[in-house]
Amino acid sequence: MSEFVMRAEKLDAGDELADVRGKFVLDEVVYLDGNSLGALPAAVPGRVEDVVRRQWGELRIRSWDESGWWTAPERIGDRIAPLVGAAAGQIVVGDSTSVNVFKALVAAVRIAGGPGSGRDEIVVDATTFPTDGYIAESAARMTGCTLIPVTPAEVPGVLGDRTAAVLLNHVDYRTGRLHDLPSLTAAVRAAGAVAVWDLCHSAGALPVGLDEHGVDLAVGCTYKYLNGGPGSPAYLYVRHDLQDRFDSPLPGWNSHAEPFGMRSAYEPAAGAVRGRVGTPDILSMLALEAALEVWDGVSIEAVRAKSLALTDFFLECVAAYAPAGRVESVTPVAHAERGSQVALRCDDAGEVMKELIARGVVGDFRHPDVLRFGFTPLYVGFGEVERAARVLGDVLGRP
Ligand SMILES: *Cc1c(COP(=O)(O)O)cnc(C)c1O
Repeated sequence: MSEFVMRAEKLDAGDELADVRGKFVLDEVVYLDGNSLGALPAAVPGRVEDVVRRQWGELRIRSWDESGWWTAPERIGDRIAPLVGAAAGQIVVGDSTSVNVFKALVAAVRIAGGPGSGRDEIVVDATTFPTDGYIAESAARMTGCTLIPVTPAEVPGVLGDRTAAVLLNHVDYRTGRLHDLPSLTAAVRAAGAVAVWDLCHSAGALPVGLDEHGVDLAVGCTYKYLNGGPGSPAYLYVRHDLQDRFDSPLPGWNSHAEPFGMRSAYEPAAGAVRGRVGTPDILSMLALEAALEVWDGVSIEAVRAKSLALTDFFLECVAAYAPAGRVESVTPVAHAERGSQVALRCDDAGEVMKELIARGVVGDFRHPDVLRFGFTPLYVGFGEVERAARVLGDVLGRP
């Protein structure tokens, strides 16, 4: 038995999260793509069946009250809150991440005062996931602001009296780099601007500490490390003391103080509900609620510790198994700068990933030359990590 196989066995034997894997529907495939679409939690199919057959099929409209449909966005927001370090009452679930980026960014400019107050710049992470950049550009045009795209490291240097809002990613989707949320948030706030964080690649993988670090607004998706299912609704965090000033650019009837008053004049509800827009996507939302049960009794600190151990081990195995010079990690080595993924640069990455998938190791390919492997600590084990690296070594070593 190789040294790495033996080490994997030891690490698996000491894994305090090993039992959580049983709460998911999985097979022999080594699934390292949970940062794109999390695996299916076993409780979801039964719940969806109940929601469709009984809640919808039998109770019909009564379910808005009796099955708790109407309050699901806030209730599920409160279930996500501890995973991102937020007290209850600050997160609402609904819409896509893209839509929530729009709500948060325009609201951030309005909170900051906007161009009328001299704050006419939106700073955005230039290396961001494309949707965030596209929406920031449109939000800037709509609010009369200028967009300033810079790398996260350059952010402190461009902040000033003209900065209205800053949109940053906690973890870079391509490289897996973890950005320094506490210090960047502090710098943005010290400049009098509003910090908006996108948590898509960090929530559910590592502690975020939204309240502790004074984050203003945050958004994130639920189908990656939160395993909510394809297209499950995203969430929006609005810090308590900013809620009264959160002026949504999409003030739908669900965010009205009295939604069933059917008033012609808009009056925003108090609290996180203000982030709602229209009728929630109940089927997806309640599938997400069932999916979140896998977190019962799981601490995000334990998840982070295992995530770092998994990615450390993968990097070590790859260094041992891959032919010299065939791949190069673009993921930071320092734990403080690493999310829960490993990205390897490889000339023929697209072809290599196809072959890996054919051999039962699923990661993904990111244009133009990145092999991306996501490690979901709730269901990925060390034995699988060793196997993935060994198969990768075989594929790369092909003549
Ligand atoms: C996954 C991801 C999104 C996805 O946005 P959708 O509106 O859900 O499609 C947005 N931003 C980042 C940073 C992401 O990683």
